[in-house]
Amino acid sequence: MPDAAAAPSLAPAPPTRPGDVIDAHTHLFTVGLLEEALSKEPPEAMKRFRQALKERKWGRSGREQTLPDLTPRECAAFYVDRIGAAGVSRAVVMSVMPDSQWTRDFIAAANGHVNALCNVDPRDPGAPALLEREMAAGFKGVKLLPVNRCYRLSDPACRPFFEKANELGAAICIHYGVTVDPTGDLRYADPIDLSPVARDFPDVPFVIAHFGAGWLDAVLRLGYQCRNVCVDTSGTNNWMDYHVPSMTLADVFERALTGLGPERVLFGTDAGTTAPYRTWIKYQQMRTLEQMGASDRERDLILRGNAVRVFRLEA
Ligand SMILES: [Zn+2]
Repeated sequence: MPDAAAAPSLAPAPPTRPGDVIDAHTHLFTVGLLEEALSKEPPEAMKRFRQALKERKWGRSGREQTLPDLTPRECAAFYVDRIGAAGVSRAVVMSVMPDSQWTRDFIAAANGHVNALCNVDPRDPGAPALLEREMAAGFKGVKLLPVNRCYRLSDPACRPFFEKANELGAAICIHYGVTVDPTGDLRYADPIDLSPVARDFPDVPFVIAHFGAGWLDAVLRLGYQCRNVCVDTSGTNNWMDYHVPSMTLADVFERALTGLGPERVLFGTDAGTTAPYRTWIKYQQMRTLEQMGASDRERDLILRGNAVRVFRLEA
């Protein structure tokens, strides 16, 4: 359904400057987006989403909150106000719904203030063509969910997709490690599976979300082999509660900055649109960097510069 309200309603986003903050990992859930996703599925599929839509509530079990019911254009204005109030200049939304016109209309209206990665099944023979359309529509790359969707990126079936990503300059963000999604299968959680792919596509940036969500050691080893592997810091990082030996957030930052360097660590909150924006995560991470004595240059790379470079936000 073409949305007449998709035309940009906001002035183009100005270039960012040192001192600005870019949230490199956020989400977007609205009534319209879920309705669109469910309209393509048989009635018995995606039960959790159907229930969420019926109740107009979304979120982790027991903590669901109201789903916004906004047009893409209204949502773009809402999103920009929301991040602006938190002192964030731009955000990069990780799409979890493939082939979404609602999201295309949203990013067109957001006019660079909010960017997005699309969602593609990399095994699908149609994946390269879909990626080409999505990049033309303004997406900056792809979010992949191997743990939740149970696939391996080393699978030869994914090769044509990565060849296309390389050709188009698409960045790839991947969720490995533990997940709140009840369908997650930890046999697909190990980032080492990315090794032959990151090796063979050295110009494609790969961002492992949430410091690898429990697989930080594997991410660091992968990052040693492949300079194109980065991490994002997003989320509560409550995987630390299940990590042996115990680590603090400062320990996690220290390991990532030592192993990968400040050019390969991207700040994010994993904020969605139902609960309030995660200002506390921004505060916690910025305070951690401050207490660690990070230099202005390191802070600017982590909080802004790396996102601009990796996702080509100002190309
Ligand atoms: Zn996320």
